Amino acid sequence: MTRLERNANVVAVVVPFAGVIAAGVLLWNSLLGPLDLEIFAGMYLFTAIGITVGFHRLLTHRAFETHRWLRYTFAIAGEMALEGSVIDWVADHRKHHTFADEEGDPHSPHVHEDHGVKGVLGGLWYAHTGWLFHTHGQASSRRYAADLVADPIMRKINRAFPYLALLSLLLPAVLGFALSGGSWMAALTAYVWAGLVRIFLVHHVTWSINSICHVFGKRRFDVRDQSTNVFWLALPSLGEAWHHNHHAFPRSAFHGLKWYELDPSGWLILAMGKVGLAWDVVTVSPEKERERLLRPNAPLPPTPVAN
Ligand SMILES: [Zn+2]
Ligand SMILES: [Zn+2]
Repeated sequence: MTRLERNANVVAVVVPFAGVIAAGVLLWNSLLGPLDLEIFAGMYLFTAIGITVGFHRLLTHRAFETHRWLRYTFAIAGEMALEGSVIDWVADHRKHHTFADEEGDPHSPHVHEDHGVKGVLGGLWYAHTGWLFHTHGQASSRRYAADLVADPIMRKINRAFPYLALLSLLLPAVLGFALSGGSWMAALTAYVWAGLVRIFLVHHVTWSINSICHVFGKRRFDVRDQSTNVFWLALPSLGEAWHHNHHAFPRSAFHGLKWYELDPSGWLILAMGKVGLAWDVVTVSPEKERERLLRPNAPLPPTPVAN
């Protein structure tokens, strides 16, 4: 990956965020108010946690155990992020870890054939969004998510995806209407900010883990793929941007491994453990961490990129 490609990736992630913040500032007190922000925050956290704690750490990697009702609640919350149905998501993501940055990885930014400007745009498009139209949902669920396929309630939640997607879009409008005491305008602005903009941002942050966190950032463990830790994405991604740590220790419930590696999803699992909602929480011992560290003079892993 060249410097140009790296910078193009960063610009493509930062600009839409800046655009949304600018729109928010310009429209403050006219088409955006405190109620919109409150519903936005609630829906963002509910659906993003559904992805990070639910789809990813619990259902894909079995980083902890929990009650069945909470497991299904996480699956429903994750589907409301509109990133596909739960079984497809888990199968795609397990396949990503199996082939990380090699042929077969559903969304690696490093496995594409084009060079130059076409290569920059191609790699960026593919890792961030293009894969959704090519490889998304194609990993065999029987091979990669047999445990979820075997659960009839999980299969039901999987089939309910279109209805949960609709609910995720309509719920902000209903909340805006109800909490404003029946204003149609409040329903409309909540629909736009807590519905459309929220889904856009949750998507964008998740896809940034696929693109940015395999290209741009820091590495310290001896892993064969190109995964990276990206500190400035840590908070919006609720801790998922410590993606290099995650590739080194996929089952760990905590992706932030140092005190300054902010990991809100890990904090939630820790809190759930304290009140009896999570158990068998997988952690990494300091010795194991030290064993995996890159040795100073060891050769870097080969880059599986054509250009
Ligand atoms: Zn990855
Ligand atoms: Zn993972």
